[in-house]
Amino acid sequence: MPANTDVTGTEALGPSGAGRDVVALLRESEARFRALAESSPLAIFVNRDDKVFLANPACVQLFGASSPEELIGKPALELFDPDSRSLVSERIRVDSETVPLVEVRIVRLDGTAVDVEATASPFLDQGVKAIQILLRDITERKQADEVLRESEDRFRYVFHHSGVAKCITRPAGEIEVNDAFLEMVGHSREELGEHGTWQQLTHPDDVARSEQVVASVISGERSSARFEKRYLRKDGSVVWADVTTALRRHSDGSPDYFMTAIIDITERKHAEQELLALTEDLARSNAELEKFAYVASHDLQEPLRMVASYVQLLQRRYQGRLDSDADEFIGFAVDGATRMQNLINDLLAYSRVGTQVEPPSLTDLETVFGDVLEMLEQTIADDGATVTHDPLPVVSCDPTQIGRVFQNLITNAVKFRGDEPPRVHVSARHGDGEWVFSVADNGIGIDPQYFDRIFIIFQRLQSRTDYSGTGMGLAICKRIIQRHGGRIWVESGPGAGSTFYFTLPDGREA
Ligand code: ADP
Repeated sequence: MPANTDVTGTEALGPSGAGRDVVALLRESEARFRALAESSPLAIFVNRDDKVFLANPACVQLFGASSPEELIGKPALELFDPDSRSLVSERIRVDSETVPLVEVRIVRLDGTAVDVEATASPFLDQGVKAIQILLRDITERKQADEVLRESEDRFRYVFHHSGVAKCITRPAGEIEVNDAFLEMVGHSREELGEHGTWQQLTHPDDVARSEQVVASVISGERSSARFEKRYLRKDGSVVWADVTTALRRHSDGSPDYFMTAIIDITERKHAEQELLALTEDLARSNAELEKFAYVASHDLQEPLRMVASYVQLLQRRYQGRLDSDADEFIGFAVDGATRMQNLINDLLAYSRVGTQVEPPSLTDLETVFGDVLEMLEQTIADDGATVTHDPLPVVSCDPTQIGRVFQNLITNAVKFRGDEPPRVHVSARHGDGEWVFSVADNGIGIDPQYFDRIFIIFQRLQSRTDYSGTGMGLAICKRIIQRHGGRIWVESGPGAGSTFYFTLPDGREA
């Protein structure tokens, strides 16, 4: 209803004949207006002379009254909560234009307060300035707002108090960050300012790549992303970060903001880089050492062969022709030269495990094992040993090298015998993605404290006079098995026999 319009119009038109028709018309119009107000779901009351003049049923219900009479005549201002009264008197006035929506609080007759949205429009009622006030209960909306506010408060609390650096990023790049983030980049909130962007804090070399990731999430190619990038601290140092980011969209699908969690992995990165450098160093020095061992043993063979053959010649020609001391000395020289030849041959064999590598091929270990037994036939017969074996599988390996492993282990099993004739059993069982082989004997056994030592080059537990050998056999086995991606170990006890185990991957990529 427009402001200052007379509802009945009596005063404006006067009681003339034509006026009476008009009066009748206006009465009808007033009746229609009343009917409208009666059926309106909005609470409406009319304030005239600062008192409630009319109240529709929705208004009666809103105030918890049982009839309009309970409200009519009451000072209009008293319908409002004391806290809202000044706003009401200021905004809802008979002499003002239509009042825009205001949020106020009314007091029901039982004293409880209700949040309402109020609007009002002044008009002339039978020449008297009046104002009709429309009220809409907004309790539910207020409660929903409150729930939303509480959840936002909780969210903010979690965001700001999280130990993990977090950042809310708008699609244009502006960021809102938590304290942990500020601590990570060494900036204060003021330094970052309101319009700081993630690009400003990112290492220049990583900006383009990060932008690509952001674009791929915005385009919907993926809903979230995890990647590594570098930030720059205020002091110019680099922070390596493991970044996980997810995009929140508006209901229409447009990008709202990214929520990003950032974990400082600088220490891990440094450790990784150091480890990489160390591994490279180690590989280099290993390769150099391998080369050295090969060259040294290879080049030593030649002069040694000469020494050995001449002392052997001396022995053959002059044995018994000089005095007994000379015979003994020549004997020592021959023995020493032979031992040195054995050592050098084994050292060469050891270094060749790394240099002379055949690409793995599918190998029937029955055949390999048969060849080894044939080679050791004499030794086995001399010692009265029995060697038995379970069926052996086909695996991917270097047949020469694996043959050498069987040869060394069986030779040891026969060599380190006890009083009984040696009994050796070789078996194979399939484990988790690998074959586990074992070579078990009934020999002298090994004290567990030496389990690691015996696999080191030149390490032996017995004297040369008791058991011949160079101490290289197991070191060579270990190297071969490791190069095949397997493991080797022993189970034993003094006098209890020994079982050597080794594994080979059952895949073809050994
Ligand atoms: P070598 O046999 O030339 O002495 P190895 O490297 O093959 O060298 O073995 C190292 C040491 O491990 C041997 O000297 C021995 O003390 C111990 N050893 C190896 N195999 C056995 C075995 N089957 N029974 C008892 N001791 C063994």
